[in-house]
Amino acid sequence: MTLRLRIQTAVSLVYPARCLNCGGLVESDFGLCSACWRDTDFISGLVCDSCGVPVPGEDDGQHVECDECLSTPRDWSRGRAALAYGGQGRRLVLALKHGDRTDLARPVSAWMARAAAPLLADEPLLVPVPLHWSRLLRRRYNQSALLAQALAARTGCEWCPDALMRTVQTPMLEGRTRQERVTLLEHAIRPHQRMGYRVAGRHVVLIDDVLTSGATLSACTRACYAAGATKVSVVVLARVVTAL
Ligand SMILES: [Zn+2]
Ligand SMILES: [Zn+2]
Repeated sequence: MTLRLRIQTAVSLVYPARCLNCGGLVESDFGLCSACWRDTDFISGLVCDSCGVPVPGEDDGQHVECDECLSTPRDWSRGRAALAYGGQGRRLVLALKHGDRTDLARPVSAWMARAAAPLLADEPLLVPVPLHWSRLLRRRYNQSALLAQALAARTGCEWCPDALMRTVQTPMLEGRTRQERVTLLEHAIRPHQRMGYRVAGRHVVLIDDVLTSGATLSACTRACYAAGATKVSVVVLARVVTAL
């Protein structure tokens, strides 16, 4: 046994790998135990090219969109999600967002990298959805920025944490209609005065934790185009799936 292997073995005896979700013991690092794995809805197979939601049918390379994206076309060009928002997927998102589980960003970025692979081929610039500074002060971190940073480290893509800024603190969007959300977010997200130039001429991939109505990501998309981005895509950890 080499020294390196011996040290690794010693480390894993002292710090055995734990399930990200329930803390139970797992075989490999940065994974889920088999019970949590079964209750986590990883998105695979045929997906809507605009929002990443699973759609019925075989993946034969055709461009497909879900009913929601067909009836309300997205401002961005393509979108992908790693998980459906429910069960353990929802628990993980909430733990990352409100539970100080910043350690989750690195392992879940592997799932995002897999889902987002078709969107990352042309070396895009990863840009997180911004938080208003007052919310950032309260929460101490922006979960979307942690995800963008981890995805950048994993894929080698560039990222820019402050290309966009939230100039108005928008109230919570939960429980509001899509139109109300769009109105509330109008002008709330802008290119950063000093850093916004970095999106000019680039394919920008916006990173967020959850895609619900898409109103926030739409506002970010418009801000990126206003700052000269040539293309905007979105990648999220979890997609709220209302009906399949
Ligand atoms: Zn578990
Ligand atoms: Zn869709």
